[in-house]
Amino acid sequence: MTQKEETSILVLYTGGTIGMMQDPKTGALVPFDFDNIYAHLPVLKNFGYQIDFYSFDPLIDSSNMSPDFWARLATKIGEEYEHYDGFVVLHGSDTMAYTASALSFMLENLNKSVVLTGSQLPMGVVRTDGRENFLAAIEIAAAKEDDTAIVPEVCIFFQDQLLRGNRATKFNAENFNAFASTNYPNLADVGVHIKYNKDRILKPNFKRLKVHTNFDRNVGVIKLFPGISEDFVRHALQTPGLKAMVLETFGSGNATTASWFLDALKQAIDNGLIILNITQCKGGSVEMGRYETSLDMARIGVISGHDMTTEAAVAKLMYLVGEGLETAKIRELLQISIRGEMTVLA
Ligand code: ASP
Repeated sequence: MTQKEETSILVLYTGGTIGMMQDPKTGALVPFDFDNIYAHLPVLKNFGYQIDFYSFDPLIDSSNMSPDFWARLATKIGEEYEHYDGFVVLHGSDTMAYTASALSFMLENLNKSVVLTGSQLPMGVVRTDGRENFLAAIEIAAAKEDDTAIVPEVCIFFQDQLLRGNRATKFNAENFNAFASTNYPNLADVGVHIKYNKDRILKPNFKRLKVHTNFDRNVGVIKLFPGISEDFVRHALQTPGLKAMVLETFGSGNATTASWFLDALKQAIDNGLIILNITQCKGGSVEMGRYETSLDMARIGVISGHDMTTEAAVAKLMYLVGEGLETAKIRELLQISIRGEMTVLA
């Protein structure tokens, strides 16, 4: 057998637009029957891979995604890990970047590809982008060099870009090119050829996969805006059971210097809340202390989230808090990149 014939891919179908087709009788959008995939997409056979399908039940619009579903997804990948060379996850685009981020933390020591993809138009629609996305995702998930996955990461493939999952954000609800990774270069660019940017891809560590599914939902996000009220901020920070808060700040990590604001943050931190500073900007990084408007936050113990996306920040906090680590350990791990999720400037 050639290596190609031995290659096996598991496709995990969670729902979303990609899996829809028009019912020939009613015209309504109904889930695609992946058991008949070869009838709809005979070209799949040309890969020569063994491609198996697993559908979650029920299938969901990704707006209903949850940490429980992430746990099921990661568990399934863990169970099937030794049986397949790579994994493709078909997922709605709306929360795909959250799921990709969550899976990157759930799957420690990942040495195979987990490629998430979806589409803006249903698979069963003539002009669908789902067909190309799906076929390229399969090819990427199967790509090996020296018997090792070329992209041993959780990643997102959409239109012509392969992005690191915990660096991606959905930024367009209309274009086929729906995702961006403004703070990290593409892992691959897909045109006539698939050009892997190998020096940007995480290296395999050949250690045993460890699946972490204990995410803690006691995490919040406050997006600052001029005029945000003291009442709102205090109530949010005093949410019962809250363990960590992402603060989406301005520019390079700046916020109002109003004393009520700093008092509220300080009180929360003194009571054990972890506060992580993320910029609202789509590109660039938090640099606490660069301006006076972030200096005091650094002094009272707000942690820099550097150039992390909100999606990655939420997932990282859910993961670290869920691991039951001491606050000091969580603070330490927040300052380093553990899955390639951020760039820490020296
Ligand atoms: N609402 C859909 C979802 O995220 C949109 C999509 O699939 O692109 O499930």
